[in-house]
Amino acid sequence: MEDQQSVLATLHPAKPSPGLAGTPIRTSFTTDQFPAWMNRHKIWIGTGVAGIALLTLLLLGWTAYAVQNRLIQSSGHSLVQAATDAASKLDTMVLERYRDIQLLSTAPLTLGQNPEALTSYLRNMAQAHPEYQWVGVTDSHGRIVAATDARQISLDRSQNRWFQLAQTLDRVGILDAQVQDESEGTSAFTVFAPLHSPDGRFLGAVAAVVGIPPLRHILDDTMQVLKNIEWTDASHLEYQLLNEKGDSIVDSTLREDGQPNVRQPESPSATMLKKQQQGFIQETHHRRGTPIVTAYAQVNIAHADPPLHWGILIHVDEASILTPIHSFLRELSVFAILILLPLFGLVLGMLKALYGEWAITKREFQRATEAESALRKRTEALDTLVVAAQTLSAQQDIDGLLHHLLQLAKNNSGARYAALDVYHDNSRKTTRFLAAGNDDQAAQAIQTVLLKQTAGESLGQESGIIRLNHLREHWTALEIPTAHAPLESFLGVSIRCQDQFFGRIFLANKITTQGLANCFSELDEQAVLTLAVQAGTAIQNLQLLHDSKEQARHDSLTGLLNHSATLTILAQELSRAQRTDHPVAVLIADLDHFKKVNDTYGHPVGDLVLRETARRLHETARRSDHVGRVGGEEFLIVAPDCDFHALQECAERFRIAISDKPFETTSGPLTITVSIGATIWSSEHPLNSERLRKMADYALYRVKSRGRNGINIVPHPNTSEADLIRKAV
Ligand code: GH3
Ligand code: MG
Ligand code: MG
Repeated sequence: MEDQQSVLATLHPAKPSPGLAGTPIRTSFTTDQFPAWMNRHKIWIGTGVAGIALLTLLLLGWTAYAVQNRLIQSSGHSLVQAATDAASKLDTMVLERYRDIQLLSTAPLTLGQNPEALTSYLRNMAQAHPEYQWVGVTDSHGRIVAATDARQISLDRSQNRWFQLAQTLDRVGILDAQVQDESEGTSAFTVFAPLHSPDGRFLGAVAAVVGIPPLRHILDDTMQVLKNIEWTDASHLEYQLLNEKGDSIVDSTLREDGQPNVRQPESPSATMLKKQQQGFIQETHHRRGTPIVTAYAQVNIAHADPPLHWGILIHVDEASILTPIHSFLRELSVFAILILLPLFGLVLGMLKALYGEWAITKREFQRATEAESALRKRTEALDTLVVAAQTLSAQQDIDGLLHHLLQLAKNNSGARYAALDVYHDNSRKTTRFLAAGNDDQAAQAIQTVLLKQTAGESLGQESGIIRLNHLREHWTALEIPTAHAPLESFLGVSIRCQDQFFGRIFLANKITTQGLANCFSELDEQAVLTLAVQAGTAIQNLQLLHDSKEQARHDSLTGLLNHSATLTILAQELSRAQRTDHPVAVLIADLDHFKKVNDTYGHPVGDLVLRETARRLHETARRSDHVGRVGGEEFLIVAPDCDFHALQECAERFRIAISDKPFETTSGPLTITVSIGATIWSSEHPLNSERLRKMADYALYRVKSRGRNGINIVPHPNTSEADLIRKAV
């Protein structure tokens, strides 16, 4: 039991597993610096702080985005306001010039075509309104009659478009603005009207080239509204005036040669302008590629026929609008760095510590899972083994047990060969050698290994185990010819129980799924050891059972078969005799006057005499004879294959063995005699055992009655008393 427990202990080693409890958590961040409650709730604190920090950042980012949007919106609206104001001023200016020319075309002064008076009037008009670049009046052939510039008098303008249009019109006309030669590269539009006499005759035409003052002059007033806003810095402000065709007629950004960019490239703002009256849009500057906000407004010159549509575009760099918010964001970043960074550091530290713990836990979990599965495998193997081992105890005889053990050891260790070396009576001398596996050479090799002191001696010692790996390499050391030893791995375990050694199990050549292995595993060793321990116990139990059975059959004083065992043997021999048809002799020997021995020398001497009698009878009996003590000083001898003649000699031999030689006792030598009555079983007289005993008893009685120390056999084959006697008993 103790041994079994130690086997269990080795199969389930209680090794301390290195784990959380045993190994200190090694992280660079020492969480024990936190208060206990923080350590307990660090995952929640960490998550909370990280969440708040993230939320704060998101909120700040969103606020910055919203403020930026608001700034652009409000700046856009201000710009739209400026553009609308400029448009309305332009419209007013065009209308005024339109009225001027309308008035002029119907004035008697003009119709009279007095050159001096008209020239003077025109000059006064141009002085009053500096946007007039040129004003002139022609006759019906297109020749200039009067003009603000005296050098132009008499020049022919009949080919000019405005003159040709005036011939067909009966009202004021406007030619769309464009960069004109007359206006020296600046933008101008032409207002013209026909001159008709009261009777409707065409008298000529009046025309005025009106320059468009740079929008900046028009915007100036409006810009005052915006002056408190940082982006009104002129360097960030650009504007354009587009004519009906979309040409840029006034442009704050001049080309390199100083000319305005006449053709306005298609841009989102120009497209929007065509669709809508006014508004603003975020776009990319067509040359610089930077983000800008462009406000647009339409100048609707309704009194022109057909009506003219001019457009005003005002561009402002987004960057200049967002300067305040950008400086705010810069300050905010400094704030974030100062406030949030340490917070993040803390969170990172916590996360790192948590990760460290998580990694350790994961590692431990893996290790525990592996250990658990290994343990489960071992437990399963052990369970199977224990069940198998228990079958050993169920064996009824030693031979069956040994063969079963051999097979179990072979199967449970995965060995190719298995052998059993059985000792006799704890002597360590081989009495039997059993081998399993189908190779005699291997069995021989195992025996050869056993003979070697190096291998053999360690068995039966402390551990009772020998494990030899890479055996081929040891052949030379063991002085075994390699050719005769086809073994690679070897495992030997002694079979014992307490101090008794019963033998040894040997296993050779471990076979795995990969083929021949070069060693047996620790688990194999444990399995075979378990089997050996169980076998040891089972052998001992069988021995004890055998001993107790033997005890039950024998007489404790003399060691001979006792009364019932003798009768059993008699019955067995009789039934055998019936089968074989051989005679069986039955003898009853009774010491003479034994009571006197007891009475004279005491019981111990009596016992001594009884023991010596038993020894002498046993010694005298043949090997096939059975001697039993059936009464106090009465012995029954069953002698198979003994005919009448042999029986006479045999009975006499028994008598002499007792009577002829004195018994050595503590009270000195004693002469003891014996009376023997005998009978014989034969197929001619097949009596049962009881009657046979009675016959022998009768014969004994006859000896006693005739004076003792003699023999008598009944019935004598040659006497006529046979039938008589047979009937009597
Ligand atoms: P006889 O010659 O007629 O056989 O006379 P006997 O005295 O031998 O026979 P008896 O039957 O009168 O006495 C047998 C004696 O054997 C009686 C008993 O005390 C003795 N006896 C029986 N069993 C034992 C025993 O185990 N030990 C001893 N010392 N004496 C025993
Ligand atoms: Mg007697
Ligand atoms: Mg007697």
